Amino acid sequence: MRDAQGAQQVSTEDLFDQIGRFLRKHRLRPDPSHYAFAHAVLSAPDGPLAAQVAQLTEGGVRLLRRDIEALGGQVTEPSAVVDHDGPCDPAQREGQADRLVAETQEYVDGFATIMHSIHAETRGFGHDLAESAAAITTSPGLAEIDEITRITTAMIGRIRESEVRLAKAKHETDVLRAKLIEARDSARRDTLTGLPNRRAFDEAFGARDADKGPYCLAVCDVDRFKRVNDAFGHGVGDRVLTAIGQMIAAGCEGHLVVRHGGEEFAVLLCGVSLSDAARLLDSVRAIVAAKRFRNRETDSPLGQITFSAGVTAIHADEAAESAFARADRLLYTAKGDGRDRICAA
Ligand code: GH3
Ligand code: MG
Ligand code: MG
Repeated sequence: MRDAQGAQQVSTEDLFDQIGRFLRKHRLRPDPSHYAFAHAVLSAPDGPLAAQVAQLTEGGVRLLRRDIEALGGQVTEPSAVVDHDGPCDPAQREGQADRLVAETQEYVDGFATIMHSIHAETRGFGHDLAESAAAITTSPGLAEIDEITRITTAMIGRIRESEVRLAKAKHETDVLRAKLIEARDSARRDTLTGLPNRRAFDEAFGARDADKGPYCLAVCDVDRFKRVNDAFGHGVGDRVLTAIGQMIAAGCEGHLVVRHGGEEFAVLLCGVSLSDAARLLDSVRAIVAAKRFRNRETDSPLGQITFSAGVTAIHADEAAESAFARADRLLYTAKGDGRDRICAA
């Protein structure tokens, strides 16, 4: 329906349905600010706001929070739709998030490949057409040539526009892919020490390759660490923990060193015998024990800080829990024997 000025009118009933569909499509909660935005878009389908939304959502694209805000609307939640039936268990949620990342990554990879090939194709196509257009205009005498030239020139214009759009989409896909890789990496990294975390360890443990073996496990625990915190504060404790983690990582270069939790580090050693693993860990222990830790702010010494470790050979097909239980027992033997030592078996 159109009014006297020719602008399209929307019946109240249609508008009601359209707003519902709009909110669902863009995953916006049915609350007043979202409703107001949807109403502003849909009640004036010929208006500039509707035109901008149509441009942004061409090809079924969902509006982003930043799009809505740039158009003067408000979004009440960063993830506008909340899944109330989602899992509450963090491990389950983590599994679901992982799956989502993997699926999204797959989708993005496919999308990027398509975009790259379309981009290459249209660029070549545009070039070919530009050449034929040039050739046609230099041929004399044919009445159709003007028309052909006009059509071809219009096509070239369209292709150039598509090229710009595709180049933008390709760039956005590349950015998204880099972000996904970063998100996947940060899920496997400990934020304090920058070392890989327990999750990275579990994955590496599960992916052991018998051809690269034998494998050993070392569990290292900082001695009397509570005293460091009590004497110098948590901030200093954090820095000491980071320094020790980095020293273990540097000393065990080529093997996987992770912060396994609290003041405990685990090392998955690959391709070394138990006696070599114990020797390596003992050399790192000696380096840490000899280090003169100082308070960065006051430059006063923190005293000697040491760690103890239990080292064990991992059996073929052994579960992580069983290897850890053995390494933990050895660690506690090392603690009981006076700390600042390695116990291997
Ligand atoms: P032991 O030689 O028997 O291992 O003694 P300990 O004091 O190291 O052992 P305990 O388990 O009693 O204390 C561990 C301490 O490590 C307590 C906890 O506050 C501290 N800790 C764990 N994680 C962190 C951390 O991220 N930062 C800091 N500053 N301290 C931490
Ligand atoms: Mg501990
Ligand atoms: Mg400790």
